[in-house]
This record gives sequence, C-alpha cells and structure tokens, in this order.
Amino acid sequence: MKDKYDVVIVGSGIGGLVSAVLLSEAGRSVLVIEKEPGPGGYLAGFTIDGFAFEPSLHLLNGCSEGRYTYEILKQCKITDKIRFIKPKYLYRGIFPDFDIRVPQSDPDKYKSILIGLFPDSEHGIEELFSSTLKMFREITASDGVRTISPILMPYFRRTCGEVLGQYIKDEKLKAIIVQPWTYFGLPPSLLRAVDFFYPWYDYVCNGGYYVKRGGLGLVNELYDRAEANGATFVFNQKVDKVEVHDNYCKHVIFGSAKVSCGVLISGADLFSTVTDLIGAKHLPQTTLNKIKSIMPSISNFEIFLGLSTDLRNKYSDDYEILISSDYDPDSQYNASLSDDVKAAPFSITLYSNIDNSCTSGNKSMITINMLSGYDHWKIKSDEEYRGKKDEVADILIKRACKIIPEIEDNIQTKVVSTPTTFERYTNNYKGAIYGNNRSIGSLAEVRPGNSLKIKNLHFASAWARQGSGVEKVLHSAGEVVKRILNEQQEY
Ligand SMILES: Cc1cc2nc3c(=O)[nH]c(=O)nc-3n(C[C@H](O)[C@H](O)[C@H](O)COP(=O)(O)OP(=O)(O)OC[C@H]3O[C@@H](n4cnc5c(N)ncnc54)[C@H](O)[C@@H]3O)c2cc1C
Repeated sequence: MKDKYDVVIVGSGIGGLVSAVLLSEAGRSVLVIEKEPGPGGYLAGFTIDGFAFEPSLHLLNGCSEGRYTYEILKQCKITDKIRFIKPKYLYRGIFPDFDIRVPQSDPDKYKSILIGLFPDSEHGIEELFSSTLKMFREITASDGVRTISPILMPYFRRTCGEVLGQYIKDEKLKAIIVQPWTYFGLPPSLLRAVDFFYPWYDYVCNGGYYVKRGGLGLVNELYDRAEANGATFVFNQKVDKVEVHDNYCKHVIFGSAKVSCGVLISGADLFSTVTDLIGAKHLPQTTLNKIKSIMPSISNFEIFLGLSTDLRNKYSDDYEILISSDYDPDSQYNASLSDDVKAAPFSITLYSNIDNSCTSGNKSMITINMLSGYDHWKIKSDEEYRGKKDEVADILIKRACKIIPEIEDNIQTKVVSTPTTFERYTNNYKGAIYGNNRSIGSLAEVRPGNSLKIKNLHFASAWARQGSGVEKVLHSAGEVVKRILNEQQEY
C-alpha cells in the first residue's frame, strides 16, 4: 500500500467496484477499503453445503446492447466474461383470485392478458402503457440531464398510485400492475411515480435478466478487472475516519493506517459516511437538515434454502414468484413493517431453475424474501432473537409450501437473515436494502446529489441521487467517474 492515492473508495459494493474499474482503467491510482473479507456488499453471495446462495439479485434491467447496464459493464470490459440469463417469464404473480405469468419483453402480450381479465379497463391499460413509453423514452434520451417536461412532470411530482389512478380505476387491476412495488420498498401511495414506472416499463418491455453465477459472478469479474488495472484492495478493514480540511477530504484512516486521497468516493451508507467518517461539523447546516429529512428504505427478511429435489421437474416455467394475500398494497406494506408475517407479501425465487451453477445434481437453490421493518428486530437477548427468527421463518416456509409443496420435505440446508443481518454485513443504516426511501418527500431536490458540499467527496452507491437497484447504482458510479475525470485535477 502507498501513502497516497488519486482515489480512495470506501466499500466494495457494486458502486465502489465499478468506480474502481473505470478510474483505474483511466490511469488513476485507486485504493478500495472494504470491511468484509471479500467484495460485493449486497451482491456478495456465499456457499454452504454446495449451494451457492444469492443474497440480493433477482432481476436486472438495462442488460441489452445500447442500454445502461450493458454499456457500463462493456466500458468495464467484462461483457465477454459474463452471461445474462433471461428467465422464460418476467415473473409469476399470485393473488387470491389470479395467477398470472408476466411475459418477457412483450408488452402487447402483457396488455392483452390484462385486457382479457379486465375488459372494461382496456382504454386505461392502453393509455397507461402509452404514457409510460413516452416517459421512458424521454428519460432515456436525456442522458442524465433532467428538464422536467410536461410528460415527465407527473412522474416526478406525483406518487405511483396517483399516476396509476389517472388511467386505472379497478382496484384489483391496479394491485396486479403494481405488484412489483416490493422491489422498490414502498407502496404506490408513497412511492414516487418515476421510481416505479421507469424500471417497470424497462422490465416489461425490454426484459428482466439474471447473471450466470449470480451477483457474485459479476462482482468477481469487476474485482479481477480492477486488480488487473492496478487498483489496490484492502479487505477486513473498516474505514474509521476521514480527515477534512478546508472542505477537502485529505486523509483516510483505517486500523493503524492513514493514506492521503485526491478524491474520496463513498460506496457506503450515507448516514455513516456523513456522521461517522466525515463528521457533521464539516457540513453546512442546510445540508445536514436535508440529510435529516431522508428516511432509510425498508429492510428484508430472507430464507436461503438448499433443497434435495430438482424443482425443474415440475416448475420449469417459474423463476420469480410474487405472492400477495390481498389487493391493498398499503395494508401489505404495513404488514411488512409490523412483521405481520401471515399477511405480508413475499416472493419465492427459484435460482437453480435458470442457473445450474448454483447447485449440483438433482438439487435446488431457492430463496424466500419478505420486506421487513427493522426496529422490532433490535432484540437484546440472543435467545429471543433466535426464537423470533425461527418463528417467522416457519410461517413463511409454510406459506411458500402452499405454492410449492415439495419444499416441505426436502430442506437440506437453511440459512435465515433478518434486517440486523443485512445491517451487520453492509453497514447500511437500519439494514436498508434500497438506500434511502423514494417517497415524494425524498424528491431529488431534497436528496443530496452524488457529492455534498465537500469538494472532493462523491457518492457511488444506492444512497446517491439516482437511487438503488443495480442499474441505478451503476448510473451513480458512471456519473461520479465522469465528473472526476472531467475535473482533470492533478493530485
Ligand atoms: C434482498 C435484496 C434484493 C435485491 N434485489 C435486487 C434486484 O433484484 N435487482 C436489483 O437491481 N437490485 C436489487 N437489490 C438492490 C441492490 O442489490 C443494491 O442496490 C446494490 O447492490 C447496492 O450496492 P452499493 O454499491 O450501494 O453497496 P452495498 O451493496 O450497500 O455495499 C456497501 C459496501 O460498503 C462496505 N462498507 C460500508 N461501510 C464501510 C466502512 N466504513 N469501511 C469499509 N467498508 C465499508 C460494506 O461492507 C459493503 O461491502 C436488492 C437488494 C437486496 C438487499
């Protein structure tokens, strides 16, 4: 390790990693400091009993040529090393009276399924698709420069529920269309319209993808690339402090080491970066007030299961299955927040159905996910925590067995994680799985941009302006790298 680097990056989540690859490729000296033993953050999969478990990645958007995810990974020179997998259906959505498979990259077919079920809403369905298409085209064409045109205005200024309500009146149809709200952590009544409809349109029209060997496969390729470019990685070291002088980050302190940085990129949680690393005294009160108004997203409860049976025999069409017990996303969100496990929406993801690298032989690897509030997991006694964890897992597994009865008698390996597990591994505040929440109150103007007032501090993570989800984090990293390279500064 040297005493001085052009760029020091805190955390090796996907945002930190992509920044490391692109900046080292451009000739900058780069140091990445990661508190865990390996790279990846939420994308760092793990293997137990021969099952390679995936902690976060379900579906990725923007993976075709010309689209953002693909193009930035191409700039990282790894597109020939990874393989995108397109599941047969985008997802299967289950409600008390409906069981729908949403087609991949075929909006007309999806429209005709919806119109077949709700013929009275044909006009509204057509209008919704046509409006979201215009919004999607405008944002895609703007390349990050946002003038809020009349087409975009409602998507930026209104909630997802308000925009949807303009076109669709039937409550069941609304619930079916917005069922993937769980991917964004807020119900339609709170979620900003653009944060739902932009990725929704992309997924429905252009497809949802997985990556062979999962998030960790992607992470390992990026890590190898950054190392090959000369970037230095330090693992098992938490950054403790950043020394700031005259509005510049000067030194980064971790363990007994202290290095100088030309630029600091935080790939870590916003709150800990500001309060623990930088220190509130270095930020203007207006910025601190903005940060105080930001709420973390919801967290997650996840069960990782290795099964001694091959689910492809009977469920070959399925990959991602979303299950909703009623048609009211608000009550479902509240059930998730309060851990009403019998009512909360949940998903089952059959990874081994589409990627045989995650297990061997006639076995299956699946996960069961339920959004979960954080506060009631902060339990003092280990015994109580374990008891609650087992109880919640048992209820969720029983619910999953109603969809896939084979789960029950074939559990070979089971790992359970709660919001405090997500917090412990990534240091994200309250185990937030999607950075800050994307309610109207977190509109771009009150969300800090990729940098705060400190001149050489940048954010390349789910907490930056673009928001969370791999495609958005890649956007943030891309913006940060462009800005740093444009500064042409000598360090
Ligand atoms: C359950 C779940 C499901 C998801 N599903 C999808 C999906 O299907 N599609 C999709 O696109 N996105 C999905 N996401 C979101 C996506 O995974 C995240 O938005 C993205 O991975 C976040 O990346 P990041 O770069 O912000 O960093 P993170 O993954 O949050 O990583 C931050 C890293 O910084 C390190 N760190 C923190 N503080 C310090 C410190 N002081 N010193 C050193 N290191 C530090 C941490 O250890 C960690 O490695 C999901 C997330 C979860 C949790």
